[in-house]
Amino acid sequence: MNIVICGGGMVGMTLARLLRLRGQEPIVLERMPEGAFIPRGYMLPFQGFPPLEEIGILSELRSEGWDIAPREDGSSVAICVQVGKILGALARDLPVEYGHTVTELVHDPTGRVVGVVAEGPDGMRTIPADLVIACDGFGSPVRQMAGLDAEIEPLADAALSFMSPEPGGVSFAMAYTSDGGHIGTLGWPEGSAGWRSCDRVGAEAALAPGVDAIKKMWVELLPESEKAISGVTSIDQVRYSEPSLLRCAEWWKPGVLLIGDSAHFFGPETGVSSGIGMGDAHALAEAIRQHPDNSDAAAQSFITWRSPVVRPYEAMDPGRQRKFTIGDREPGPGEAWPPRS
Ligand SMILES: Cc1cc2nc3c(=O)[nH]c(=O)nc-3n(C[C@H](O)[C@H](O)[C@H](O)COP(=O)(O)OP(=O)(O)OC[C@H]3O[C@@H](n4cnc5c(N)ncnc54)[C@H](O)[C@@H]3O)c2cc1C
Repeated sequence: MNIVICGGGMVGMTLARLLRLRGQEPIVLERMPEGAFIPRGYMLPFQGFPPLEEIGILSELRSEGWDIAPREDGSSVAICVQVGKILGALARDLPVEYGHTVTELVHDPTGRVVGVVAEGPDGMRTIPADLVIACDGFGSPVRQMAGLDAEIEPLADAALSFMSPEPGGVSFAMAYTSDGGHIGTLGWPEGSAGWRSCDRVGAEAALAPGVDAIKKMWVELLPESEKAISGVTSIDQVRYSEPSLLRCAEWWKPGVLLIGDSAHFFGPETGVSSGIGMGDAHALAEAIRQHPDNSDAAAQSFITWRSPVVRPYEAMDPGRQRKFTIGDREPGPGEAWPPRS
């Protein structure tokens, strides 16, 4: 099967590695240069363990990170690891066409997707494909080009987060505030991060109280974060964002399939988006192994297999199921952000 994977992020590379283990040679197109990534606080959830174990990098990642809720049998609920380590391990010895952006889908007269147009350092080229797999993230240009609709649902609350070079000392800690908000910290051997929900007031207002006020609030609400946030010395290490959930009624059209963040995105409270995406990659690689000459059958098998796993996560996301959320109740003393005078 001629397979083109659009996007060489965590999910695209996982899929490519798993397909190669099954005798396929997919083309991976990644618009960014080799080794580029956005640093962020990251925990690898258990849903991603089986594919990474098969690829042969799980124990390496465990030794380079800190376990979250370790179990007696040596496993854990999740591993907090520097995000560059997982991307680096996946990229090792994997052929990826870096600096190549997918700009168009190619259709046959029936409307079936039969390839992509990619723009790279040597210009534009058309690449034929039996199956184009969108692994191009939340904004997924391929999803849009295919005309597959995404339902994007902004959360009621915004997020304030920090990155710190200080390891922090705890792999994970999280607490809830009395108005239904949440605050947490992640730590790994080279650094730490933190997040909290806050009012949707825009970056300027959320950051206006300044770095000292932000540090004081974090320590008061989550004492376990004291060491982590001690490494925050500039407001540039603090970020405000307005997360949204994403789900798609359909993941497939003849010739093109969505997986990973292009197909679904869960709220920051779940911390499972990448693990579900890597699970998608595992299921799809296996479906293609079972139907090596029929991409439609492989895609249908994937959907049958994956829907009962992914759809409940979508339905039960805390962003949708919370009994009350920011704005419904008064926050407790010191909990509101920005502080109310
Ligand atoms: C701040 C933050 C914290 C997170 N923390 C966690 C966490 O703790 N645990 C967890 O499980 N998940 C977490 N996630 C989610 C996790 O990062 C994603 O689920 C995961 O990265 C999804 O991988 P992906 O490969 O589907 O998409 P992406 O990582 O977005 O990769 C998409 C790739 O496609 C490329 N691309 C896009 N368009 C094109 C194009 N036209 N042509 C070629 N290439 C293209 C992009 O350059 C990119 O490399 C977090 C996300 C954020 C934003």
